[in-house]
Amino acid sequence: MEWKERFYQLTRERFDRSPDQCGDRQLYLALMLLARELSANRPAPETGRKLYYFSAEFLMGKLLSNTLLALGIRDSVRETLLAMGRDLNVIEELEPEPSLGNGGLGRLAACFLDSIAALELPGDGVGLNYHFGLFHQNFVKFKQAEYPDTWLEEENWLISTGRTFTVPFGAMDLKAVLYDIPVPGAGNGYANRLHLFDLEEPAREPWVGIRFDKGDIAHNLTSFLYPDDGDEAGRLLRVYQQYFMVSAGAQLILQELEERGYRPEELADHVVIQINDTHPSMVIPEMIRLLMAKGLTFDQAADQVSRTCAYTNHTILAEALEKWPMHFIETVAPGIVPIIRELDRRTREAHPDPRTAIVDGNDVVHMAHMDIHWGFSVNGVAALHTEILKKSELKPFYDLYPGKFNNKTNGVTLRRWLEACNPGLTALLDEVIGDGWRRDPDQLEKLMAFREDTGVLDRLLEVKQASKDALARHLWVEQGLELDSASVFDIQSKRLHEYKRQQMNALYVISKYLAIREGRLPERPITVFFGAKAAPSYVMAKHIIHLILCLQELTERDPRVRPWLRVAMVENYNVTWAERMIPACDISEQISLASKEASGTGNMKFMANGAVTLGTMDGANVEIAQLVGQDNIYTFGRSSDTVIDLYHRWAYRPRDLYHREAIEPLVDFLVSPELLAIGDPADLSALWRDMKNKDWFMALLDVEEYIQTRDRAIHDYGDRRAWAKKMLVNIAHAGYFSSDRTIAQYEKDIWHLRGV
Ligand SMILES: *Cc1c(COP(=O)(O)O)cnc(C)c1O
Repeated sequence: MEWKERFYQLTRERFDRSPDQCGDRQLYLALMLLARELSANRPAPETGRKLYYFSAEFLMGKLLSNTLLALGIRDSVRETLLAMGRDLNVIEELEPEPSLGNGGLGRLAACFLDSIAALELPGDGVGLNYHFGLFHQNFVKFKQAEYPDTWLEEENWLISTGRTFTVPFGAMDLKAVLYDIPVPGAGNGYANRLHLFDLEEPAREPWVGIRFDKGDIAHNLTSFLYPDDGDEAGRLLRVYQQYFMVSAGAQLILQELEERGYRPEELADHVVIQINDTHPSMVIPEMIRLLMAKGLTFDQAADQVSRTCAYTNHTILAEALEKWPMHFIETVAPGIVPIIRELDRRTREAHPDPRTAIVDGNDVVHMAHMDIHWGFSVNGVAALHTEILKKSELKPFYDLYPGKFNNKTNGVTLRRWLEACNPGLTALLDEVIGDGWRRDPDQLEKLMAFREDTGVLDRLLEVKQASKDALARHLWVEQGLELDSASVFDIQSKRLHEYKRQQMNALYVISKYLAIREGRLPERPITVFFGAKAAPSYVMAKHIIHLILCLQELTERDPRVRPWLRVAMVENYNVTWAERMIPACDISEQISLASKEASGTGNMKFMANGAVTLGTMDGANVEIAQLVGQDNIYTFGRSSDTVIDLYHRWAYRPRDLYHREAIEPLVDFLVSPELLAIGDPADLSALWRDMKNKDWFMALLDVEEYIQTRDRAIHDYGDRRAWAKKMLVNIAHAGYFSSDRTIAQYEKDIWHLRGV
């Protein structure tokens, strides 16, 4: 049946009318049901081994437009609607964005699912269905306020599978109910699945705001992603969530293995489990437990599991490497405690070095250590990150298992992050170099032949301007900000974290503000965009948001400053915002403290859309710099070696830097009368004191060079043709950062789904 016929049937069945009589909301529902059904009807690819990608987060973004694209019917849907006088874009807007992720790690998982299906590999995601997501961010009195994100509508993308599994917690058994979201492969007839486990009777709403009963596991286990872990109940809840996900997921894997006609002792021949960061690490002991229940000996089970599981490390931040007290696991999942102890005993017997123990002297379990000893692969997510893992953070492990370590530089799906979010640029590329780049992103390099072609360069500038106009219009509608789309659009959008150094960006804003007040105008008007959520319990991150919102208010109010400098922080930054902001960006802020950003993926999305990076030599910025060359990127700041050395020697003294002539007025502005008149004195002074005395992520170390480099970029922006050439060179080299390339490398080096 043609899609159109089914579409007419659906609106008839549901709403008793034909599409042209439907409201936009009804059209959205009918299209969602249609796309869901067409995807679900597709067969899964079959090659031999099957991959299960375990992740606490999948930051999918809206699904309708990308699903229609993958199904190959978006253009024809658009035309059909247009003939009825309807606009597909308006209808797509009505979809609520799934709130199943938080930042880069979750968005990576979503890009990977897209690429796995596009490459016709059999690979499903495994995660949890969080009813209220991370949280919805609002700004109240220039501060972040958190509300439940009620993204799950009555009718949604989830398909009930009818499958359930029993998860054996210490205090009770709970049923895990499996829902699926189909993931169609672009350009082929296949679909994989995102498996999301849920409770049987999830809570309908939290108490107040995002507060809820953390002890009521049976109703709240799937309420929120990353519930506040400031107290013991919150930390326990996280362990409950993790064990729920991995136990149900491991049971699903064994059930599917049996359905495919294989025995448990053949697991490793037919299954690969990718452990995305340490949240799913308990799948290792849990799978051993389940295999032993099926009759395997400990040796046999551990052998199968260690040939099935591969681990991806996403961070070297010590506080982010998960460790759980054994007594937590004893409470939540007593069944795996003897298994973890035995894994630890065997590890110690072979490798007595206490630094590599799974269970330390305080009876705390190091999740990453378990993954490394008992998995067959450990990968970092950018070349520099993997080198740091090998040379310093995980050196004792690298010495034991050099063959396990490998790099897989992250990527992003250009189907979402170029084709779908930037139709103007997509059309221009198709016209100039043909549309082969859509299937083979390396073909973007063909663009290099046009780098002196003024016609193409001018068109690039026009496309960029149109995206800037559109973003400005949207901010006017959404937040009442009237921006100047002729100004330089400088954007830093990503989770709020001190290592990402939004505070350093704020110091730049302050430096420009003070200069303008003294009559030293910038070369051209600048708009500084921010998008960021702070973890609800991360106090310093919330202070930084407060600072940014105060600066926004300050520049808005000041008629002398406003024509030259604006700050625009978007509320509730998410994938939908990213899709609007990234095409409109001139300067992409990637300014993390060197060594701290494992890879970054925002940097890749901006580059592919013709933004020029202003960044430190950190994460994948290093690879971007190598690809585009020094003329087409603005780099600054201390190297990762220098930073690592400063930490090792405890040699960083922000106080000395603070007293430098160029820095002190910027930092002190945090507690100036102007700012205190707007903001909360306690929060601003706390941030001010932290910056002077602690500055753990060394904003003051790089800030002077940052200001100079940023001013240079803003100067260079004035030569429009030269700038357009930089844009072109960036786009031309973005093909390397396609997640199709990343996934092809996982397949070749780790998964071998098509055989070795
Ligand atoms: C890509 C993306 C991120 C990751 O950004 P980084 O700059 O790599 O930290 C975070 N949030 C959203 C919504 C994204 O699309």
